[in-house]
Amino acid sequence: MREERTRQLMEAASGIYEESETENTPTMPFDLERARRETPGCEQVLHFNNAGSALTTRPVLDAVIAHLQLEAQIGGYEAADQARAAVDRVYDAVAELIDCSPDEVAIVESATRAWDLAFYSISFQPGDRILTAMAEYASNYIAFLQVAKKTGAVVEVIPNDAAGQISIDALQNAIDERVKLIAITHVPTNGGLVNPVAEVGKIARQHGILYLVDACQSIGQMPIDVEQIGCDLLSATGRKYLRGPRGTGFLYVRNTVLEQLEPPFLDMHSATWLARDRYEIQPGARRFETFEANYAAKIGLGVAIDYALQWDMVTLWRRIKTLAYRLRARLSPLPGVIVRDRGVTQCGIVTFTVEDKSPQEIKSALSQQQINVTVTPRVATLLDMDARGLESAVRASVHYYN
Ligand SMILES: *Cc1c(COP(=O)(O)O)cnc(C)c1O
Repeated sequence: MREERTRQLMEAASGIYEESETENTPTMPFDLERARRETPGCEQVLHFNNAGSALTTRPVLDAVIAHLQLEAQIGGYEAADQARAAVDRVYDAVAELIDCSPDEVAIVESATRAWDLAFYSISFQPGDRILTAMAEYASNYIAFLQVAKKTGAVVEVIPNDAAGQISIDALQNAIDERVKLIAITHVPTNGGLVNPVAEVGKIARQHGILYLVDACQSIGQMPIDVEQIGCDLLSATGRKYLRGPRGTGFLYVRNTVLEQLEPPFLDMHSATWLARDRYEIQPGARRFETFEANYAAKIGLGVAIDYALQWDMVTLWRRIKTLAYRLRARLSPLPGVIVRDRGVTQCGIVTFTVEDKSPQEIKSALSQQQINVTVTPRVATLLDMDARGLESAVRASVHYYN
């Protein structure tokens, strides 16, 4: 059984590796030397915690520091005015990255906030159904429960198929006129799984159901195209695979669904005060933002996305998959090690457990050698972990610069 699994992993790894070496596709050659030269942290650590927070690039670091210095020298508002082009650029950069219009983008402080802004804008009635998947992220699921309690909507979890992805058949069978929202995570926080978000999108579109995708772990790791996915709402973070600064994230809101959403809070940036009894909400997705923002971080996010775009997402995705498959193939034959990743296509997040050693012990031992991994706990993806009888696992998430 173990030998069989190892052989499969080895084959998968070499298949992908050869594909990336020989296949005649119009992807760019990957320049590892440049990637490492432009990543200062590569000199300090072996960073396999990219699903936590990736090492930023030199251009991002420089842009953030330069803006903080400008703020100190000429004042915060004045610095923002002077950097207007770089601040505006972040909307265009996101639009290029995910194939939408810049006015469908809100820049916020995290993926969770982006997701919340979308979810809490939806008006649920008693009996409305929310469909989600087994690997849903804790913060999202907690929000489902809170809103279900308040509104009488119900949360239903679509089971997985044999490969461990959301079952498209089961989803299809669950659809009726009471389904108000399909909300799933593209790549979960706890492993290599990549949910078939475009197939889910086809079903959502067919039935005119609102569709929210948590792309927090997939953004920057693989090509993301909101047209191809067919989602109405998508949330993402800056610091993970996009390699942006901490405290950044964005929300995509399809123009055609904007008017059915009521932002849970408004301020003088998201709306304009017109008279004693009247205000007007901003056009476009910026109605989900607030006046105040970390401008240095926001500029840094734009620079991080532009950096990723320079490299071409298809090339980066192939490189990440190759590294992850190689890591799984080398971990798997080690005595007592069990690789835990599921799904048809597996991404850069590698998870494993080791007999007689806790994930925390593995993490600490690796840390002594300047190797960063983390521990993915049961409570981050409770339904999935319980279904697999896992209390926690070591998470080693690779990036193209590793
Ligand atoms: C990390 C993570 C989040 C939360 O992102 P923040 O930027 O920390 O809010 C959401 N969903 C998934 C799947 C994640 O892995």
